[in-house]
Amino acid sequence: MWNIMMNKRKLKITTESLWYIQTYIRLVHKHIGPNECGGFLAGEPGSDIVDMALLAPHQTVTPSSVTIDAQGVLAAGREIQKHGKQAKGWWHSHGQLPVFHSSTDDTNTEHILSQIELYLKTFGDMGQIQFSIKHT
Ligand SMILES: [Zn+2]
Repeated sequence: MWNIMMNKRKLKITTESLWYIQTYIRLVHKHIGPNECGGFLAGEPGSDIVDMALLAPHQTVTPSSVTIDAQGVLAAGREIQKHGKQAKGWWHSHGQLPVFHSSTDDTNTEHILSQIELYLKTFGDMGQIQFSIKHT
């Protein structure tokens, strides 16, 4: 179990979930270069433990940015809901840049999580996730 900070809230992440994130980053690096990539963190409703890590579908990556489009955010929300989990946050790599937390990261976190909640309240489950990762 590892400790992480999410919007100034301390969460714990399972070793398996961290392994998935590290594997996603290595796969993106291997196949499309040292670009950023991102995904979502989920866990049991009300829990402070992240036990599910997803690679976000529909993301556009560069060596210094990752953008997850609305379709990707919503598809991830559906996947999280399908597993009976609750979105806890999102993760992203920094390509070859060092680890740091920016105000952009805070803004993106609030935006993405609110999109997931709004979508699920409005539409419910909409089916399967189609993945695409574009490099610009
Ligand atoms: Zn960042």
